[in-house]
Amino acid sequence: MITSAQAVGVNVFAGFADKGYTGRAPRGQTPGRAAAVGEGGTDMGLKANGLTEGYRGPTYYELAAPGELDWRPHRPGGYAAYRRDWDLRGKSGLAGDFPLHLDIDPTNRCNLRCRMCPRTHYLETGQNHWAPNGLADLDFGLYERIIASSAGRGLKSVKLNFLGEPLLHPRLPEMVALAARAGLWVMINTNAVALTPELSRELLLAGLSDAFFSFDSPYPGEYEAIRVGANYRKVLANIASFMAIKDELGLKGVQTRASMVLAEGLADPEGIKSDYIRLFRDLKVAEIGFGLPTVMGRDYSLLPSPEGFVCPDLFRRMFIFNDGLCGPCCGDWERRLMVGDANSEPIADIWNGEAYRRLREAHLSGRHRDVPACRDCSVPYLSGVGA
Ligand code: SF4
Repeated sequence: MITSAQAVGVNVFAGFADKGYTGRAPRGQTPGRAAAVGEGGTDMGLKANGLTEGYRGPTYYELAAPGELDWRPHRPGGYAAYRRDWDLRGKSGLAGDFPLHLDIDPTNRCNLRCRMCPRTHYLETGQNHWAPNGLADLDFGLYERIIASSAGRGLKSVKLNFLGEPLLHPRLPEMVALAARAGLWVMINTNAVALTPELSRELLLAGLSDAFFSFDSPYPGEYEAIRVGANYRKVLANIASFMAIKDELGLKGVQTRASMVLAEGLADPEGIKSDYIRLFRDLKVAEIGFGLPTVMGRDYSLLPSPEGFVCPDLFRRMFIFNDGLCGPCCGDWERRLMVGDANSEPIADIWNGEAYRRLREAHLSGRHRDVPACRDCSVPYLSGVGA
């Protein structure tokens, strides 16, 4: 078991000196969103690294490790059915009675100021539409009510993350345990800065099913320039420690993934991807994800309108901000599309309510550009095709 940062450093960091490429992520390039269907990615390095192609979307794609690192055989049968439902809802335009998945933000606080993050962009430009009441943690009582009213209604998974860094919520392990006891798959996206071995153990024992690490360069200098406030070696050691504790606990069904945003203008994207894959293959992280950036400030509405675009997330997932307001997607940082308030409305009422009905209808009838937030969103334009 690897628990020492120094020991991990010796093994992991060798050969990953900065390459001095010119294409740093410009401020305001945000991660691509895995929301729609289309092209993207490359087969580079698949054979050499023993990886297979995983999810592929217009703005994001994944590579997956087969064999002993594959977590899927260790999940009960219901998981495959849930994933089939996920795809089906996105393609069919049928929303069912309840969301399959909730993205719940434990906090809108963060311990970093990453250059490609819209949160950083909005904070630095004084446009905190997403935090009108300041930076704060989700009320635990509200979280309990959301989970209690969702269990047994068709909800299959929660991701405890949206705008902030979930590890900063002091009761995150309890939140994971509550959702896991309700029979849900429980995921987090994290920058892993605060992922101590103690917290890793707590989260894994609480029932965390999926851990997605955001780590934006295989090179120390570039990483620390992009993820402002993070220490490359320390964060990698945290991830290594999480992986070791997962193995020690025999949790083969826990999915792990490391992902980075491929900024525009990189001098050697294939070399960077190859180094990134090697870095996380050494740590036995099961999946690697590469996102294409959405550029803050670019006017996507000027691009040609794709015919027949229907946003798949409208039919399968809902996002709950740390203050309880609910939105339909991760693309609406300015909160123009709010569909309800979990403080005062049951999740089922919001999902089947008028705001959602109008939004779905606009998309299904080919009028997504009539919705200002969707007209300005990168997802339809990066997808280039109907979903
Ligand atoms: S803004 Fe509209 S098109 Fe973009 S992700 Fe949200 S619902 Fe989909």
